[in-house]
Amino acid sequence: MNWEPWTGCYPASAGCDNCYFYGPNAKRFGQNTITKTDKFDWPIRRNKKGEYNIKGDKILATCFATDFFLPEADEWRSEVWAMVKERQDIDFLILTKRIDRFMMGLPEDWGEGYDNVNIGCTVENQELADVRLPLFLSYPIKRRFIAVSPLLERIDLTNYLHGVDHVTVSGENGRDTRICDYEWVLDIKEQCERAGKTFWFKSTGTYFKRGNEVEKINPFKQGSLAKELDINISDGKRLF
Ligand code: SF4
Repeated sequence: MNWEPWTGCYPASAGCDNCYFYGPNAKRFGQNTITKTDKFDWPIRRNKKGEYNIKGDKILATCFATDFFLPEADEWRSEVWAMVKERQDIDFLILTKRIDRFMMGLPEDWGEGYDNVNIGCTVENQELADVRLPLFLSYPIKRRFIAVSPLLERIDLTNYLHGVDHVTVSGENGRDTRICDYEWVLDIKEQCERAGKTFWFKSTGTYFKRGNEVEKINPFKQGSLAKELDINISDGKRLF
């Protein structure tokens, strides 16, 4: 399940150039206006019987279509943290390309982190990995994963894998997007294998290179093809 407490975003780094939601179209459609959605308080809404509308034991993918740490959302984040704390029975999966803003507005009782928060730091190339991941590992977070999305070049994550539970990799999706080379994907998978970390190849992206061939993959098949390649490393636990 996805929860988008706000909508709107704008590019933060190289991986945003063709952002599905807010890349080249943002100006045209005014999508970069950041506003609360009507689902802002969704996790704590109750029905007439007084029960939560969202039952427990769920994973809520939070801000997957915007960014949790946008400066424009600073004033709302404390309310969101309070909802996250109230719903200890839900795992909140939070992805960000703005990990440098992680400490902005953390709750006073955050300590080493809430048990039900799993933060995903996105990196797209080696330069961003080397800037973001040391920061990411320095913050008080109990559960961490790296989301390589979109994968734009060969990346060495070896120095950072000790501090994370899991890595996901995706190619870029959309028209005129950049190539995802299967060799780069396999390289990250091998790094995870050596470090004893779980790994998920989530999507091939639109232009997927294997050997010397670049294939254009239909958006509806990018996830299933990645799965068919059968290179995931699982420990049996559900992450998404
Ligand atoms: S941070 Fe994410 S949602 Fe925002 S523009 Fe970049 S890719 Fe799009």
